[in-house]
Amino acid sequence: MANDELNLIALAQHFSDDDKAREFVEKLRWPDGPVCPHCGEVNNAYKLEPKPAKENGKGKHVRKGVWKCAGCREQFTVTVGTIFEDSHIPLSKWLLAYHLLCASKKGMSAHQLHRMLKVTYRSAWFMAHRIRYTMSQEPLSSKLTGIIEVDETYVGGKLRIGTTKPHDNYHRKRIGPVANKAAVVSVLQRGGRVQSRHVEHVTADNLRTMVDTMVDEDAHVMTDSSTVLKKAFLGERTHSQVNHRAKEYVRYEDGLCITTNTIEGYFATLKRGINGVYHHVGKQHLHRYLSEFDFRYNARKVSDGDRTLLALNGTGGKRLMLRDSKPN
Ligand SMILES: [Zn+2]
Repeated sequence: MANDELNLIALAQHFSDDDKAREFVEKLRWPDGPVCPHCGEVNNAYKLEPKPAKENGKGKHVRKGVWKCAGCREQFTVTVGTIFEDSHIPLSKWLLAYHLLCASKKGMSAHQLHRMLKVTYRSAWFMAHRIRYTMSQEPLSSKLTGIIEVDETYVGGKLRIGTTKPHDNYHRKRIGPVANKAAVVSVLQRGGRVQSRHVEHVTADNLRTMVDTMVDEDAHVMTDSSTVLKKAFLGERTHSQVNHRAKEYVRYEDGLCITTNTIEGYFATLKRGINGVYHHVGKQHLHRYLSEFDFRYNARKVSDGDRTLLALNGTGGKRLMLRDSKPN
């Protein structure tokens, strides 16, 4: 099946049964033939015939999709060492979940996955978190360069008046518009990639660390004028600001567009997703949601099907155990 055919219709038709879904994942993970997870040998294994255990209790039950390595004589399946290992959820549903999360611009709630895939809410929640985990990106292999927009935003955590003491103006006044919200700082290369971090507080030190690790020395950094990022923290990097307070959003200097509109647009999608689809995101899980939104943005120029394949490529070697991840 060609990649561009990997849409919801194709998935639903082709992967209605688990054998096809497994063959698909085998092809994806093992383009050069089965790889033994025990000794690492490539294409030196044979498929075992599935058979039930004998009635007298002798002989072993062999599941479908089991391979035996001709080198080390160990058995394995394509899901060993992946997030699918030990999962009772059929692979076909996993593939559908991947596609739904990769193709929905604002993400998809566990409640909706639960309804669409006919799995329990808890399973849906867990699947979504495992998928987000595989979307988390390796540290950038090279620094972002060119025009870099840096900004912060605040997500989630709507203030409930009932949670403060009634008639307590002192406490009410102390709760500003961002209290109880989580701060997110993003660094975005115009026309390129974005990387977002949840930070406890937006401080100059936090921003400086992010810029130092993510942004090339030759880059041109653009922020709005309210940023805590000061020229002194940027090293050799050029810094331009737009003054949002004076209603300045775009300015041209020597034919160069000075603006933070790209990152503002990214934040708009992020906030619509977090506030609209996910409603409440526990701060301890926020970094996973950021991985999901960053992933989709960074793969925005490819088709939904290719984006799904990109995410599926991250399934190997990343097993998220239940103890690492509990519903909030
Ligand atoms: Zn082996």
